Amino acid sequence: MTWGTLSQKQPDADQLEITLIGPGQGECCIAHLGSGRWIIIDSCRNRQTRHPVALEYFEYIGAQANSVILIIATHWHDDHISGLADTLRACTEAKFCCSSALSSREFLATVAPYKERLLFAGDSGVSELFEVLHELDESGRMPIMRAAPDRRVVQLAPSSLAHGYSCEIWTLSPSDAQIDAFYLEIGKLVPKLRETKRRLPSQKTNLLSVVTLVQVGPFAALLGADLEETINPQTGWTPIVQSIARPSAMSQIFKVPHHGSANGHSPDVWASMLKTKPISIATPYSGGTKPLPSEQDKTRISQLSSEFYVTAPTQPGQPRKLPKAVEKTIAEQGIKLCPVEPRTGLVRLRNGGSQNPNTWFVELARNAYRVP
Ligand SMILES: [Zn+2]
Repeated sequence: MTWGTLSQKQPDADQLEITLIGPGQGECCIAHLGSGRWIIIDSCRNRQTRHPVALEYFEYIGAQANSVILIIATHWHDDHISGLADTLRACTEAKFCCSSALSSREFLATVAPYKERLLFAGDSGVSELFEVLHELDESGRMPIMRAAPDRRVVQLAPSSLAHGYSCEIWTLSPSDAQIDAFYLEIGKLVPKLRETKRRLPSQKTNLLSVVTLVQVGPFAALLGADLEETINPQTGWTPIVQSIARPSAMSQIFKVPHHGSANGHSPDVWASMLKTKPISIATPYSGGTKPLPSEQDKTRISQLSSEFYVTAPTQPGQPRKLPKAVEKTIAEQGIKLCPVEPRTGLVRLRNGGSQNPNTWFVELARNAYRVP
C-alpha cells in the first residue's frame, strides 16, 4: 500500500511522532516515543487491502513491528479493534492494555454465549477480542495490563531515549463508577431459567473508552478515544478533568474524542487539560444516521484549535432505500450494490527532534484534510 507522496523516512531517534490513520469508519493511532520505540492505540483495516493499517504503515516507513512496546485497545467497537489480533501477532514484543471491563473473566463468561449472535450483528468486535485473548495466551503475554484512571502503564528512562527526556504513558479511564455501571447492565442480561437469551447491547461501551496521555519531557498528547461526556460527574470526562492523581501536563496535541461529536465535547477538557489552541486530529465516522464530525463539530473544534485535521472526508449516512421496482431491476441484472468505501487517510505530526522539540510538522496522505 502506498501513501501517495508521504515521505517513507522513519522518524529520527530524537523525533516524536503522532500519526492518526482512518477511513470512513475506523481509527488507529501510532506514536513514536523516541529511539525506535512505538505504541499503537486501536486498529482498523485499510479498506482497499484489508490489512491492519499500523502494519502497513510500519512496512511503508521500514520500521520493525517488534519495536512496538505497547498496544492499547480503547473499547470493543469494530471501528477501533478490527485487525487488532493480526497486529498483536506481528508485534511480538508489545504488551497489551485494555480496560478491566474488557478483560475480566466475568465479562467473557457473560459474553461467550452471545458470540454467534454478535458476530451475526457484525458490529460488536467480540470475535476480534476473542482472537486477541487467544493470541496473548498462546504467546505467553498474559496478564493483560488493565487500563484505569491515573495509571502509568509505560515509563522509559531519559538515558534510554535519544532526545534525553523521560517518557510516560498514562491511562486516565474508565472510571470505577463506569465499570460498576457496565457490570450492572451486563448482569441484567444474564438470561434467567427458561428465558430466551437477550442480545448484548454495545451502545454504551464508548463510556468505557480508555483515554491515554503520552508525556515525553515537556511535551504531552491527549488521546481521547471515543469517550463521551455524561451528566453523571463520576463518569465520562468529569472524573478525568477533576483527578488530582493524573499528570498535570497540558497537552499540545489532542486526538478529539468520538470522531469530533458534540457528545464527546467537554469544555473543561479544553480549559484544563489542553494548551490554548492545540493541534487537533480526528477520524470521521461515516456509518449510521449521523455521520461525524458534522459541520457544527468541525466549526467548534477548529475555533478551539490552532489547526484541525481529519483523516478522511465524512461520507453521508446510509443511502435511502430504493423504490421496489428499481431494486428488482437491479437484482435481475445480477448487480450487487455496495456502499462507497471511503479511502483510508493519514495525518502525521512529527516534531523537530532535540533541536526543535516544540515545532510540529504536519503531513497529510491520501484524502486527509485540514479543516479551514
Ligand atoms: Zn469510534
